[in-house]
Amino acid sequence: MPLWKSYHIPRTVDEALATLAQYGGAARIVAGGTDLMVDLQYTDHVQPLEALVDVTRVQEMLDIHQEADDSCRLGAAVTHATIVKSTLLEARATCLVESCGVVGGPQVRNVGTLGGNVAHALPAGDGTTSLMALDAQALVAWGGGLHEWLPLPALFRGPGVSALDHGKDLLVAFRFTLCAPGEATAFKRIMRPQGVALPILGCAVWVKLNAARTHYDDVRVCVSPVAPKPVRAVEVEAALRGQPVGQQTLENAVAAAHRTLHPRASAYRATAEYRQHMIETLLRQTLPLATERAKTGEARAEGVGLG
Ligand SMILES: Cc1cc2nc3c(=O)[nH]c(=O)nc-3n(C[C@H](O)[C@H](O)[C@H](O)COP(=O)(O)OP(=O)(O)OC[C@H]3O[C@@H](n4cnc5c(N)ncnc54)[C@H](O)[C@@H]3O)c2cc1C
Repeated sequence: MPLWKSYHIPRTVDEALATLAQYGGAARIVAGGTDLMVDLQYTDHVQPLEALVDVTRVQEMLDIHQEADDSCRLGAAVTHATIVKSTLLEARATCLVESCGVVGGPQVRNVGTLGGNVAHALPAGDGTTSLMALDAQALVAWGGGLHEWLPLPALFRGPGVSALDHGKDLLVAFRFTLCAPGEATAFKRIMRPQGVALPILGCAVWVKLNAARTHYDDVRVCVSPVAPKPVRAVEVEAALRGQPVGQQTLENAVAAAHRTLHPRASAYRATAEYRQHMIETLLRQTLPLATERAKTGEARAEGVGLG
């Protein structure tokens, strides 16, 4: 049985919304299809979808643009492979290149989009984890006509449950402030070698050092999944903010993580104990790396897959 009846390729956000409205919610947005096709294949349905609305040709959703206020506007249909190739993002949002650079393999990264990673609403999405550390906002074009920028967490309702209706509402773009001198990011994750689609655990951090580069002025940490929705590790951030760069501060952050972050077990991925232990491992990798990048201003993405 075919999975859908009609296939549309709109060129503008308005045309995409109008096409979706035409089907009254019975159509479905598709970008790279690397989550949706799996969902459609492995969920029982009696009827094919009325239509798929493919957003990979909507120009407004394909740009990576540095704005005048030094923020970055990143289209939701930008692929992981395109993010990895961006010299702007490698230098000033390195964690995003590092997380998008490990999503699946080259075939998945060449078509899979950051918007699809977020709209699929799994807390462990690698792109999502780094967008949280970048304190990103998302531009949503609601089916009803309102276009608004929202804090990223507002798009998540639960594991795989999005605030977006994928038959009506379009995630158009993301925006976040690019790292300035004295600021930097890093992303690391643990994944089963034969792992299929999502990591055992991922961790992204953003640090801002003081002028002397001796203390943390500000910090953002996201470890995923430790909750049904992506969350910031606020107690870990509090253990770092205002503190001197150094081993004791790192130990305090690790202790705060063990006290406050409690990942659940997953039959496919790992025990809760293993994940708990890996939180420490990832923090001990990402915090010093981001701190060193903030000190030196050098940011070369690590662990990024080929192609
Ligand atoms: C083999 C394999 C390995 C993978 N490995 C990883 C991994 O390591 N890490 C990881 O995080 N993910 C992984 N994934 C999952 C997936 O590739 C990513 O989540 C990817 O970013 C999804 O993007 P997409 O464009 O393919 O989304 P699609 O499959 O096209 O869409 C996903 C969902 O979001 C909706 N949607 C898509 N775009 C929008 C939009 N702009 N507005 C509103 N709704 C929208 C769709 O309707 C659909 O419900 C893997 C998948 C496969 C098949």
